[in-house]
Amino acid sequence: MNTEANTPKPAQVLMEIPTIILEVKKAHEQYPNIEKEFEERTKKFSNLTQTMTVNFECSLSKEPIKYAVYLAECFKSFRHYDTLIDLEQFLKLYFSNATQQAAKVLQCPICKSQTKFEKIEQAFFPHLLINQLRSKKQCGEFPQHMMYNFVDKTFYPLHKGKMGSLQNAYFEQIAKLMKKEIMPQSQFYQLVQKWNANFNFLFYNNCSLSSMKVMIPVRSQNCNHFEVYDLTALLHHFDKKEKQFKCKRPDCNSIIKEEDLCLDQDLFNSCLKSYSFRFSFIYNKEKRQLEDILEEKQDINLIKYRSFTKLSEYLNYQSKIYKIVDQIYTSLINQEKTEEFYQKHSLDKIASEKLEFKFCQFTGQRIELPCRCIRCEQIQTCDLRYMSCILYQFQNPAEGKMAGNIIDHCPLCKNPFTKKQKPKDTALHEQVYVDVKMMNFITITTGFVNINQKDFINYLNNKLITKVIVKNDQESILKGKQAITTIQLKCPISKKKILRPIRGNNCTHAQPFDQGIIDLHQNGTIDLNQIKCPICQTKFDYFIEDNFLKDQLQIFFSYNLEECDAVRLSIMNDKIQIKPRNQ
Ligand SMILES: [Zn+2]
Ligand SMILES: [Zn+2]
Ligand SMILES: [Zn+2]
Ligand SMILES: [Zn+2]
Repeated sequence: MNTEANTPKPAQVLMEIPTIILEVKKAHEQYPNIEKEFEERTKKFSNLTQTMTVNFECSLSKEPIKYAVYLAECFKSFRHYDTLIDLEQFLKLYFSNATQQAAKVLQCPICKSQTKFEKIEQAFFPHLLINQLRSKKQCGEFPQHMMYNFVDKTFYPLHKGKMGSLQNAYFEQIAKLMKKEIMPQSQFYQLVQKWNANFNFLFYNNCSLSSMKVMIPVRSQNCNHFEVYDLTALLHHFDKKEKQFKCKRPDCNSIIKEEDLCLDQDLFNSCLKSYSFRFSFIYNKEKRQLEDILEEKQDINLIKYRSFTKLSEYLNYQSKIYKIVDQIYTSLINQEKTEEFYQKHSLDKIASEKLEFKFCQFTGQRIELPCRCIRCEQIQTCDLRYMSCILYQFQNPAEGKMAGNIIDHCPLCKNPFTKKQKPKDTALHEQVYVDVKMMNFITITTGFVNINQKDFINYLNNKLITKVIVKNDQESILKGKQAITTIQLKCPISKKKILRPIRGNNCTHAQPFDQGIIDLHQNGTIDLNQIKCPICQTKFDYFIEDNFLKDQLQIFFSYNLEECDAVRLSIMNDKIQIKPRNQ
């Protein structure tokens, strides 16, 4: 007979999770060679791979990481390196009841290896890198998806979705630029001083090429404005479209080229500390720094939706809502749905609708992330942060009750949202999209008062027109040829004197046009997307500037002051001789 079963065991005192966390952290601080050991481990991994993606999300609970750890056995035996475990989340799951706490062994939920220990603080090893990045100094309260390079010890925020894959593809070029020496004269705060911007101002850190928030901010030394480009968007543009281009900012005539680019470290540091959809900053003249408004205050867009009694309650809610905002802001359907929408709705219809661009009708706050649902027929948008509150309560009815009645429809068009029940159904977050054209318009318009309907329509018009591209990085078709030919000095399209010769991409004739036809296209006088070349009848996909001929023409004009209609070109490989040929 077993007597032991009858004798009562001494009641075990449960250890509290906050106490354990403190003990573990204290033990880690006293660990003798912690830095060296961590470095050795990362080195071992960097032989296998150069980079590591860091998402600051606990692999177990999908909640934000507070303090990242490895189980001691996983660490010692180099089991895995980019799956993150948050200490608190782990303890809640595997070390909170009496049986778990009595066992003196923990199994890794990822690799199943067993960690045996005497005291619980021996069971973990800190993920130094994550914890350093996670500390407020490095990447703030709202850390983003990041890329860490073991070799260079550099890290930078990573785009999500398609832009993220592009960013990975340009990994080597990005690493090269990150190592380039920082030019002090091209840094945001230096420019503030240089331009005497001694006032508070709003700054949108949105890329004019990609319409997304700038992740790696690079500046051309020739630009005279605060706005920068996103490095990934630029590399993609150089790679697939043109080697250089005229700066997309209105009023800037700089040519953007890869060799003139430099990282703006000031903006980079500000970007690291905010969510991927947070591209608006305030320059605070007292503190002389850029601030993400949200770091200081609570987001009024959310507070207008519901009230909170405790700060922790608010922060918890905010992280849930921002996850939805982030998901929609970085979604690929935005571009697609926006195009679709503006194809369906004529400019006349847009002009006839009464529109409010500046303030969201539901929150009274500035519309920064204009969105509508896929069933909306009106142009009017509201801010995505408010819309995300609606989506969240629709998905979580218990939450809806906190704010009053559950809203089951789009606040703009009143059409109902649908729940995803079958795999074929549209997911809730895909029933809303960001109007990227409107967002671009809002961020490109300098000066809040200028945001109005008339300018938006002009902007939509221009948007169509800027499809005409002039490339100036291609060899002249005349170069390397031997021929004698005649060209007219009046542009066959504009009938103006040819000062800047261009040709259509399909043209093989010597006769050029003047670049002034692009201006005629921009102001709507002609439509270069529609007309064909009057000489060879081919279509214009884009234009190519002939710098070779342009230089020779300039010399010719400076010596021949008398007007003439046509000239004779004698082309000999790399030289052109131009002689007047008056009829
Ligand atoms: Zn493991
Ligand atoms: Zn510029
Ligand atoms: Zn709608
Ligand atoms: Zn032609």
